Amino acid sequence: MNIAIDGPGGSGKSVLAKNLARGIGLTYVDTGALYRTVGLAVMRRGIEKTDTAGIISSLSEIRVEMKHEGGAQKVLLSGEDVTDKIRTPEVSMYASAVSAVPEVRAFLKELQLDMVRVGGVVMDGRDIGTVIMPDADVKIFLFANPKDRAERRYEELAAKGMNVTLDEVLSDMNERDNNDATRAEAPAVPAADAVMLDNSGFLEVDTYAAAVRIINEKTGESFDERL
Ligand code: C5P
Repeated sequence: MNIAIDGPGGSGKSVLAKNLARGIGLTYVDTGALYRTVGLAVMRRGIEKTDTAGIISSLSEIRVEMKHEGGAQKVLLSGEDVTDKIRTPEVSMYASAVSAVPEVRAFLKELQLDMVRVGGVVMDGRDIGTVIMPDADVKIFLFANPKDRAERRYEELAAKGMNVTLDEVLSDMNERDNNDATRAEAPAVPAADAVMLDNSGFLEVDTYAAAVRIINEKTGESFDERL
């Protein structure tokens, strides 16, 4: 079984996908981490976010890999483990900028398709249901109101000791979501056959229960809705 979870930043995609991976026995694939890794590489090279030619030429100098061990995903940039280094607000903005470049999307596509071919994945991102897994057994588009999403992202960053304000998080998030949803290539929009799940005000357990209900309905399985 392959499950696609798309949606804007802070909607809880990665928490839900991790929980589903554990609950149902699938491999969690975080595709945002791949765009973040390219974003980090471009940032480190001092290339401007708007320098499309510079972004494209850096692709021939880097290698991006992902590894899945014990339920956790690691990403490697030319052999260096950058799993933790890609989680800063600066890298988020770089990830969003590089993800609008078609050559970057093509560069990362094969890696993602390798995982789909192996199968048994719950994959989260922006174009999973539309581009990467158009044949997924279940597609969920997860969203929530901007205030809830900004608060979740803020708590995540604050827990990691990052010095950001809620206003900064909200404004970065709006800019990133707008870039992602309006870009020409693979915009972050729901697939025609995705189930829309609004988890505003939900706890983690509520989102999990709602998602399992959708999965059971779509597949005829009877997975436990309790986390
Ligand atoms: O999901 P996450 O916030 O880690 O993604 C970082 C950025 O990578 C997003 O803002 C988006 O621009 C890009 N992305 C994408 N397609 C995906 C996953 C992420 O364009 N499938």
